[in-house]
Amino acid sequence: MNKRNEVPVEKNQTLVVEIEDLTYEGLGVAKVEGYPLFVENALPGEKIDMLVLKTGKQFGYGKVQTLLEKSDDRVLETDDMLLRTGIAPLQHLKYDKQLAFKEEQVRRAVERGAKLSGVEILPTIGMAHPEAYRNKAQIPVRKVAEALTTGFFRKNSHDLIPMENFYIQDPKIDDAVKIVRDIMRSYQVKPYNERDNTGNLRHIIVRRGHYSHEMMIVLVTRTGKLFQYEKMVEDITAALPEVVSIIQNINPESTNVILGKESRLLFGENYVTDTLLGKKYHISSHSFYQVNTVQAEILYQKALEFAALKPTDIVIDAYSGIGTISLALADQVKQVYGVEVIKEAVQDAKLNALVNEVENVTFEKGTAEVVMKKWQAADIRANVLVVDPPRKGLAPEFIAAALEMKPERFVYISCNPATFARDVKLLVAGGYQLQKVQPVDMFPQTAHIETVALLTRK
Ligand code: SAH
Repeated sequence: MNKRNEVPVEKNQTLVVEIEDLTYEGLGVAKVEGYPLFVENALPGEKIDMLVLKTGKQFGYGKVQTLLEKSDDRVLETDDMLLRTGIAPLQHLKYDKQLAFKEEQVRRAVERGAKLSGVEILPTIGMAHPEAYRNKAQIPVRKVAEALTTGFFRKNSHDLIPMENFYIQDPKIDDAVKIVRDIMRSYQVKPYNERDNTGNLRHIIVRRGHYSHEMMIVLVTRTGKLFQYEKMVEDITAALPEVVSIIQNINPESTNVILGKESRLLFGENYVTDTLLGKKYHISSHSFYQVNTVQAEILYQKALEFAALKPTDIVIDAYSGIGTISLALADQVKQVYGVEVIKEAVQDAKLNALVNEVENVTFEKGTAEVVMKKWQAADIRANVLVVDPPRKGLAPEFIAAALEMKPERFVYISCNPATFARDVKLLVAGGYQLQKVQPVDMFPQTAHIETVALLTRK
C-alpha cells in the first residue's frame, strides 16, 4: 500500500492489472500499489481489464471486464455457472496446476502458519478422471419462474440458479435430482421460500454408494406434512430402482443448516451401504461419509502407511464417524478406540464393526476432547493416535490430553490447512516432529484441500 495508507482504487474504477497469485479460495490476486484486489476467474500471469467492485481497508474485490492476456494454465471450455455458484471454482485451472496449487497451499500453511521449514510436502495425489466424483448431493429447492426448481445458489447469495448438470457429482445423482424434482412438481409440492419461511420442500439430498449403487433420497421439508407421500414413494422407486431408502427430514427453522432434528422413514431402510477398502459400511442420513470414495480409499491407505502399524499397537481414532478408519486398521493392531459426537454415526460404527466381524474396536459417543481426557485418566495408553477432525481442527483440550498420553505416532488427517498448521505448531511445541504431509485431492475443481500428515515423538 502507499505511504499514507490510502486505498489506491475506487469502486467502479476500471484499470489494467496483472494477476500475481491465487488465494486459498482460488481467487486471482492483483496488487495496485501493494493493495490486494481479489478477482474471480483470473489466473496468475494473466493481464485483465478489471472493474473494481468493492474496496475495504485491507483489500478489495474486482471483476474481469476483458481478459487481455490468457494464461497457458487456463482451461478454455468452462461452464460459467459452475464458477459462479462455487460448485467448481477452480474449473478454469488445468488439473495438474490445481494439484500444484494445493501442494503450494499446504507448503505455505506449514512454513508460514506452523513456522516449520524442511518438512517433506509430497505432491498432491490427484484423480485420473477429476469429475463426476461426488457420492452425495444436497440440492436446494426454490420457486423460479413459478415452478419448483432445483439448482445451486449464486456465490455469497441465496439466489437459486437452475441447474441440471452438476459436473462434479455422480451423474446418476444428477439424474435422480431431476426425476425427484419432476415427481415433486407433479404432486404440486410447494417449494420453500426462505424470505418468509413458507412453502415446504427445502432440499433434495441424494447419496449413492460408489460400489453398491444403493441410493438414498432425503426430502427436507419445512413442515411434517407431505401430502400423498405414499404415491410419491411409489413413483420414485418405480423411476429409480436403485433407491433403498427414502427419508423425510423436517426442518421448520429459518436457518442455513440443511437438516432438521426430526426424520421419518418413508420407504426402505434408514441407511445405504457401500464398501471401502473391502469392508462394508452402513451409512445413515445424519452420518458423515467421505464424498469422494475413490480418493478416500487412497487417503486411508496413506494414513495406514504413515501409522506403520504393528500387532501390539493400541490406536485411538478420534472423530471416527461411522468407523471407516478404525475398521480399516483394526486387523493390523491389538485394539482400537473410536470417538465420535453424532449419535447416529456411533450407532453406524458399532453396527459396521459387527457386520465386518471386527472385535477389537470400541466406539464411544462424545466429544473427542472430553473422551480423550477420560481415556487418559483411565490409563488407556494408545501409542498411535489418528485424528480426522472437521474444518475447525482440534480443540486445545484435546491437544493437551494427547500430549499427556504421548503416543509415538500421530497421524493427522485434515480438511483445512489453516487449522492443521495451528494445531501442528502446538504439537511441535509439545515434543512432536512433523515428518511429512501428503495432500490427496478429494475435491477436484474446488479449492478444498485434504491432507494426511505424520508426526512422531522427538
Ligand atoms: N473419520 C471419519 C469421519 C471424519 S469427519 C471418516 O473418515 O469418515 C469428522 C467427524 O467428526 C464427523 O463424523 C463429525 O460428526 C465428528 N465430530 C465433529 N466434532 C467432533 C468432536 N468435537 N468430537 C468428536 N467428533 C466430532
